[in-house]
Amino acid sequence: MIHTVTISAIQQASPTVKIFQLDDADSAFHYLAGQWIDLYVDIQGKTEVGGYSMTSTPTTHGHLELAIKSSTRHPVTRWLHEQAQVGDQVRISDGQGVFFYQAEMSPRVVLVGAGVGVTPLISIFRYIGASLPQTDATLIYSIPSTDEFLFQEDIEKISQLPNMHHIVTLTQADNTWQGKTGRIDAALFKAAGMSDETLYYLCGPQGMVEDVSAVLTSIDVPASRIIYEKWW
Ligand SMILES: Cc1cc2nc3c(=O)[nH]c(=O)nc-3n(C[C@H](O)[C@H](O)[C@H](O)COP(=O)(O)OP(=O)(O)OC[C@H]3O[C@@H](n4cnc5c(N)ncnc54)[C@H](O)[C@@H]3O)c2cc1C
Repeated sequence: MIHTVTISAIQQASPTVKIFQLDDADSAFHYLAGQWIDLYVDIQGKTEVGGYSMTSTPTTHGHLELAIKSSTRHPVTRWLHEQAQVGDQVRISDGQGVFFYQAEMSPRVVLVGAGVGVTPLISIFRYIGASLPQTDATLIYSIPSTDEFLFQEDIEKISQLPNMHHIVTLTQADNTWQGKTGRIDAALFKAAGMSDETLYYLCGPQGMVEDVSAVLTSIDVPASRIIYEKWW
């Protein structure tokens, strides 16, 4: 089903990423935490489509949120960054895809993201924080630089809950950063705590997803407990 929604806010969240709030007054719109939508825009008389993950949680009613990294190549992404205004209408599908979390799937998740690939993971993190105190969740988030730390305030606030944790690692040198540096490796997963029931959700650039799944395999995590979101 296709829903017409209105852009109600646009925020420059980092040098490369804008956050869009969409009014979903249409109560039939439906998604699960971690899913993505097709977003349709008419550009120069032609309907173009882009796929974007929700960053909001389905427990928030009335609006949904997207975080989109700029691209001059992709027509919809470019339109959203360069043309879109508050009040514009766009069309969206319902939530799609198998990259989602629901409580019955496992009592423990580790959400592993790099760069703007954190988008579906923050949806799951917010969802668990808002409504699932029995689920233990750790967000492992790799960022190139401190100014690309998306959702920092929210991640730190949610992590005050006893079941919610995060580890952020920076990949470029920065003297002002007190936290972890370097790539996501086996030691980070061990620091996050491992169990036979943990589900691992991965989203990021292709090389990162391949490297992280090789790391997980090397520490005996079966493929059945690794869930990927591929944007390529
Ligand atoms: C299911 C799905 C969900 C998506 N959700 C989002 C979203 O929430 N926000 C957003 O900005 N874009 C998202 N995209 C990508 C978006 O639809 C366009 O493909 C993108 O804007 C195109 O940019 P580009 O041509 O400059 O690609 P490039 O920047 O050249 O990237 C090449 C491919 O790798 C992917 N990629 C690059 N960096 C990352 C990363 N850190 N994590 C994951 N994939 C990466 C790109 O999306 C693209 O498909 C999603 C795509 C899919 C298929």
